[in-house]
Amino acid sequence: MAYQLSEEHRMIVDVVKRFVKEDLMPLEKIALEREATGQGMSLPKDIEKALDSKAESLGLYGLDVPEEFGGADLPPDAMVAIQIELSKTVTPWAPIPDSPNLAMLMMTATPEQKVKYMVPYAKGALKSFIAISEPGAGGDPASMQTTARREGDEYVLNGRKIWISRVPEADFGIVMAATNREAGSKGGISAFLVDKGTPGFNYVRKIPMIGGAYTSELLFDECRIPAGNILGQEGQGYGPMQQRLSVRRLQIGARCLGLAERAMNMMVDHVTQRKTFGTLLADRQAIQWWIADGTTQMHLLRLMLWDAAERIKNGERLRSELSMMKVFATEMAADIVDHAMQSFGGMGMTKEIPLQAMANRIRVWRVLEGPSEVHRQLIARNRIRAGVIQ
Ligand SMILES: Cc1cc2nc3c(=O)[nH]c(=O)nc-3n(C[C@H](O)[C@H](O)[C@H](O)COP(=O)(O)OP(=O)(O)OC[C@H]3O[C@@H](n4cnc5c(N)ncnc54)[C@H](O)[C@@H]3O)c2cc1C
Repeated sequence: MAYQLSEEHRMIVDVVKRFVKEDLMPLEKIALEREATGQGMSLPKDIEKALDSKAESLGLYGLDVPEEFGGADLPPDAMVAIQIELSKTVTPWAPIPDSPNLAMLMMTATPEQKVKYMVPYAKGALKSFIAISEPGAGGDPASMQTTARREGDEYVLNGRKIWISRVPEADFGIVMAATNREAGSKGGISAFLVDKGTPGFNYVRKIPMIGGAYTSELLFDECRIPAGNILGQEGQGYGPMQQRLSVRRLQIGARCLGLAERAMNMMVDHVTQRKTFGTLLADRQAIQWWIADGTTQMHLLRLMLWDAAERIKNGERLRSELSMMKVFATEMAADIVDHAMQSFGGMGMTKEIPLQAMANRIRVWRVLEGPSEVHRQLIARNRIRAGVIQ
């Protein structure tokens, strides 16, 4: 049976579909041109603003923010459906607020922190980043070297963070640091709210990444923050951080499906028109197998997404399932986009159509939020632990 969203949620997804078709798709050319001319995968600021206003007028703000904070309180299945639609274009636009930090703030913020950080964040008045990765600890964040020591009613942060997204536009960040290095992930990692501009918070450099994206390197040097800026209990930051990463992993699965569907559509459209050696590409078995395998994989991913969304909605905390989905989704979407590029020949190698931007985007997802190999390790470890299943 096909997974059914509620009538109300289907209507919101339809609004998103129209927004993508009428507002985002026509801007793709501008974003691609800007990327090709070294301005990053971006839109001019006035266009970005206009898109945000349009989205707000359509009710596409605070989608997964609880109603008590003025949001639509959409469940994971509706959010998955929305992410699939938004990912059918490479035009860089994302709904406000970004879900993973919202989830972490909802899990851990005190009533005061909610007023100061979470509520403005949910409304888009404040923007944020999360700093977990370090030059020597990314795929294995429990070994992070950044420390936070308590001194009276302050914490003092010291350490270096790297590959951090969205720093220049952020107002504050969630910074992960060790409060007890020996304890590591089991009671030694804490999360802190750090305002940009706090003395000792140094912006080191902007790092260009593939696909016209960028990240940042940060240095915390005797950076003093109020003790009240700890997020959750001291030493208990690792669990909420992992749950936050799980929100992004579900999103990545949905985004891979959206991108793969777009690439498949482009490929089908192209191969049913292009003839080589007197025969349509669509009539070649090599091409048909790409389409058959890709279609099958997209079907599987859709089932994985609905299964995960439904279980999360029912309160389950998924780990292995999200790891399986992230590995599968990123690898299958990479294959489908690659085959689409191949089917377009020379045109597939240009920056005039979105396929290369899609390939770059997916490539990055095989590393961030945990490299595929680390996810495979977790899946295998959990399965081996379960032993022989009768
Ligand atoms: C575009 C982008 C945006 C990012 N944004 C953020 C952000 O906002 N905040 C943040 O904190 N971080 C961010 N990151 C960092 C990202 O989460 C890390 O790069 C990632 O977790 C990998 O860590 P690492 O770079 O230290 O690689 P390492 O941990 O050094 O791993 C390198 C490679 O080694 C292999 N490997 C590692 N462990 C194993 C294993 N157990 N078994 C087999 N092979 C293994 C994998 O192939 C892996 O890719 C971002 C990264 C990118 C690329």
